[in-house]
Amino acid sequence: MSTNIVKPELLAPAGNFEKLQAALIYGADAVYFGGKNFSLRAFGDNFSRDEILKAVDFTHALNKKIYAAVNIFAHNKDIAELADYLKFLDRAGVDAILVSDLGVLNLARELTNLKIHISTQANVTNWRAAKFFHDLGASRIVLARELTYAEISEIKAKCAAELEIFIHGAMCISYSGRCWLSKFLTGRDGNQGACTHSCRWKYNLVEETRAGEYFPVGEDERGSYVMNSKDLCLLPYLDKVIQSGVSSLKIEGRMKSVNYVAGVVKVYRAAIDSYFANDFKIRDEWLDELNKIAHRPYTTGFFLSDGKPTEIHDTSKPSRSSNFLGIVRAFDLSTMTATIEQRGKFEVDERVEFFQPQGENFSQTITSMRDADGQEILSAPHAQQVVKMPVVKPVEIWSLMREV
Ligand code: SF4
Repeated sequence: MSTNIVKPELLAPAGNFEKLQAALIYGADAVYFGGKNFSLRAFGDNFSRDEILKAVDFTHALNKKIYAAVNIFAHNKDIAELADYLKFLDRAGVDAILVSDLGVLNLARELTNLKIHISTQANVTNWRAAKFFHDLGASRIVLARELTYAEISEIKAKCAAELEIFIHGAMCISYSGRCWLSKFLTGRDGNQGACTHSCRWKYNLVEETRAGEYFPVGEDERGSYVMNSKDLCLLPYLDKVIQSGVSSLKIEGRMKSVNYVAGVVKVYRAAIDSYFANDFKIRDEWLDELNKIAHRPYTTGFFLSDGKPTEIHDTSKPSRSSNFLGIVRAFDLSTMTATIEQRGKFEVDERVEFFQPQGENFSQTITSMRDADGQEILSAPHAQQVVKMPVVKPVEIWSLMREV
């Protein structure tokens, strides 16, 4: 480990308030979220103004950071509302905003004191572009995903701005911020936060007078998913990622589950900490955990420039994750009883695993359960039902109960 390297921030997605809590409790240093408008996840839960205030308070109470994505490409009609929203974010005390549109950057600089991070949607692929945005007042540049280790290191050497890169999650097949596929095929614009993920669809060839006759484009018997990218995972090369000198390591996935956020954050937290404790080696349990979470086959993307394919051509479906059954909301040491808020169906005699924010995971069989009124029950089929059950070890609040 080089002593000159500053420990990078681990930055996690917060699709809603619960995911924000999970990300921070499982070890993220910072989170990013979108408001109800102006961020590129129009169909995520996203945060209302009241929720933003609550999220800022929660994050700052833990001495961590919170960034607001305001990364749409704005049209004239958006400007007045955007101005009001940016002033609100400034008053709310978010630590930075993520911006891709020069108009939004200009507006934020004119009206607020907000720190500005340039979103990956702005597609910064070279040090000149990074320096240009830095000269315009941006303190951090989220680099395009389409860069190699050597390119990232060169940008770091030639630009004084903080750099942020994606280390894990879904990838676009297009250059970030430049895809019109969804808009062209469905009218829903990826650059306005409404992408339909058309690159994941199965494609055939149809001659216009032969409706209903599908001619294979020719990959294999399962179809053609010519544009369906694998998921990024740089864990095996995390030492090299850290040595590139970037300031922030970002996990993709504001639309993903609490289970995904908790699992991925815990793995990367442990890996980053082990590097700075001079104890870095890839552990099987980290890889097992990343493989348990729903994902497409993993790729290192462009980072290694090794020419390996980054697309998965035989299916668009991610692998199934281990089922997420509930969140531990309370634990009573005197009776060794956990209170669990249900998220998936589970029943007596089922084997389950407790995935804990800090401690080791452990498994057990559910021997009995009671509902909120103390009545004995055999299964917990209702959404967010509160259940009490005996546990074989003390269990941390916010542990996730999953099927084994
Ligand atoms: S269609 Fe695919 S490549 Fe294009 S923006 Fe959407 S996810 Fe990205």
